[in-house]
Amino acid sequence: MSFFCLRGISKRFDKDTQALSGITLELAKGQLLGLIGESGSGKSTFLRIAAGLETQDRGEVLLDGEPILNPSQKLVAGYDQIQLVHQQFKLYPNSTVEENIRRPLLLYDKSYAQERTEYLLDAFNLESMRRRLPRELSGGQQQKVAIAKALSSEPEVLLFDEPFSHLDSLQKRQLLLEIQAVFRKLHVTGIWVTHDISDALMLTPYIAVLRKGTLIQQGNVEELFNHPKNRYVASLFTPINPLPEGRGRFLRPTAIRVSTDGEGLAGRITSCCFLPYHNQLTVCLTGTGLEWIILDERRIFRQGDLVSLVFPRGEIMTLSE
Ligand code: ADP
Ligand code: MG
Repeated sequence: MSFFCLRGISKRFDKDTQALSGITLELAKGQLLGLIGESGSGKSTFLRIAAGLETQDRGEVLLDGEPILNPSQKLVAGYDQIQLVHQQFKLYPNSTVEENIRRPLLLYDKSYAQERTEYLLDAFNLESMRRRLPRELSGGQQQKVAIAKALSSEPEVLLFDEPFSHLDSLQKRQLLLEIQAVFRKLHVTGIWVTHDISDALMLTPYIAVLRKGTLIQQGNVEELFNHPKNRYVASLFTPINPLPEGRGRFLRPTAIRVSTDGEGLAGRITSCCFLPYHNQLTVCLTGTGLEWIILDERRIFRQGDLVSLVFPRGEIMTLSE
């Protein structure tokens, strides 16, 4: 049996807002799941129910076979074994980094508390900042302390609600690399919620996609990439280009090549963007009104160039909406 189970979770706030519709997710011990969804898709509601902080209309949450009670069933909502890390993390403003991390361990044996604090300061590379106050840290460093603090009492499950969404992309990338190393060492069981699939993929290959309160697809990233359930899942990874004859058939930019012998679909390049690994071209296909995104790894094409595009038939994806 799975370690952390959420079965058939449904939640409606009012008659117009079905926030979640029968969501089932199961995590093995040590498994981290990336939960992807756009704003309003129900991610935070789902995590709050998973943590026992919100009452679901239907469904159950089980941790190691034991039911997690919701606020209507339990006097003090929430569980120490399930830690939720928010975007608006709460650190004690007048306590140092070290004190913040040790705080959840106040009732523990003193030498264990110190040992655990030292371990986390080391794992998160925070030793040189141990005596600083939260306001003396950058946003990214503060969030790192918040995650270390959530880990200090060795919870069974960690739930992250878009913890890095307010950081700039350079800070975020650096922090994700650090977290990746720590999580690998600690075998964290949990759910990492984000609207950006590339963030989640730095931490785990296990992905679930939520849209308008419905779980669209879950599985290994390769499965989602190669066999997306619908157009939405496919477009989380790359732009997808509709074929002129329609009927829900699409191509990823990587499947398309500019032919040298004039074969293929004719078009004109309407824009050319320099990106780190390639130029990204927008091509307006002649007589169709369609615009395709394609890649130019050699950086040889320019805006205004006429091109012919070819692709292997086998790369065509048939996708529903
Ligand atoms: P996400 O975290 O993916 O942005 P949320 O779980 O916050 O999504 O919200 C899902 C839906 O439920 C939204 O339509 C939101 O407006 C609604 N919602 C969330 N919390 C409440 C609440 N406490 N009362 C009423 N509606 C809510
Ligand atoms: Mg949210």
